[in-house]
Amino acid sequence: MTISEPASVPVGPATAPRRLVLLGATGSIGRSTADVIAHAPEGAFEVASVAGGSDAAALAKMAIALKASFAALADPAGADALREALAGSGVRSGAGPEAVLEAALHDCDLVVGAIAGAAGVEPTHAALEAGRTIALANKECLVCAGGPFMRTAARAGARLLPMDSEHNAIFQALGGADPSTIEQMILTASGGPFRTWTAEAIAAATPQQALAHPNWSMGPKVTIDSASLMNKGLELIEAFHIFGIEAGRLDVLVHPQSIVHGLVTFADGSVTAGMAVPDMRTPIAHCLAYPDRVETRVRRVDLAAIGSLSFERPDFERFPALRVAMDCMKAGGSLPTVLNAANEIAVEAFLAGRISFHQIASMVEQVCEAAVRRGDDGEPATVGDALEIDRMTRHRAREALM
Ligand code: NAD
Ligand code: MG
Repeated sequence: MTISEPASVPVGPATAPRRLVLLGATGSIGRSTADVIAHAPEGAFEVASVAGGSDAAALAKMAIALKASFAALADPAGADALREALAGSGVRSGAGPEAVLEAALHDCDLVVGAIAGAAGVEPTHAALEAGRTIALANKECLVCAGGPFMRTAARAGARLLPMDSEHNAIFQALGGADPSTIEQMILTASGGPFRTWTAEAIAAATPQQALAHPNWSMGPKVTIDSASLMNKGLELIEAFHIFGIEAGRLDVLVHPQSIVHGLVTFADGSVTAGMAVPDMRTPIAHCLAYPDRVETRVRRVDLAAIGSLSFERPDFERFPALRVAMDCMKAGGSLPTVLNAANEIAVEAFLAGRISFHQIASMVEQVCEAAVRRGDDGEPATVGDALEIDRMTRHRAREALM
């Protein structure tokens, strides 16, 4: 596994700062990453470049705070606003997809992949192709183009460090074990805001209700995915690629306290678990400093105060999105790519008040079934193929919404 080799340079003030590129700098993960950097020992990290989507003012502020040398905004319309906001700061800027690519390819030791959705595929893949170590939060990259991503990583000798909390916990629980001794990997899910709701109540849930996650504070897309449990389905596909494990050895447990994030069962019956409070700054810090550790201001796990940890099986009846995603993982081919694209459109439509919560899973399932019926279910060989499937699926999903 490419992920289990230790990085060569330890982090800390005694060595040169680790140079970072931050893709998705203005989002929830981006801001948490900035917080980890700000509270790490002086000189542990420096930031080469930052990239964001469309908020020029927020990106400029982040670039200045992190003392980045280059800031890239994906939206070309924000070019002037970004330049003006950075005037006199010494930070160079650019706008449009090429600028984001330029930011992704800045010389660095580690790229934080924290763009939301398939928008992250191209820049993150470009960094991987250049042999960079990627700390990956942007799970949609691996759901959309997992096969090509992992082949590129192997070819380029690039390492992927899992930043998603469940995968980070499993990575730590693995402890460099021989892959042939791994029997099962379990990802936990909090169950989201609707864990105890009836199917009827969930079907009619509003965006405000779906955005009120009980344990995690995250960007809107991943928060809706967490409410539908689609997030756990996407994460199973992410684990399938990142750990190179068979789909049948991956499972999900609902764990409302969100303290145990991932578990590994070994051939001898041993189970190791990765635990932390639900705060992304812990997996972020683990990736930034890997294989060393840096201190964070994250609250520590106090098991006596929590009292008990509980686990339950997911309910596929009330949370059909998880079943749809698991079916797509098992079927393979283009279906994970189709699933990801259809889900992004469905979530957008739900947030815009155009479809009900219940329709997210049913629309995604219909788009996947239609791809199978047309025979469009072959595996994308390249990132370009995956992005073409993504584009066609978005088009079809938008048409289905008309
Ligand atoms: P977010 O919506 O808060 O932030 C997304 C970031 O991507 C923003 O900075 C946005 O400006 C940027 N962006 C959007 N399009 C872009 C483009 N074309 N080019 C460059 N930048 C672009 O999302 P988030 O919650 O920070 O999540 C980011 C990723 O991390 C997602 O894939 C999510 O599933 C994953 N993740 C998030 C969390 C979390 O706690 N937030 C936890 C685990 C995994
Ligand atoms: Mg996660």
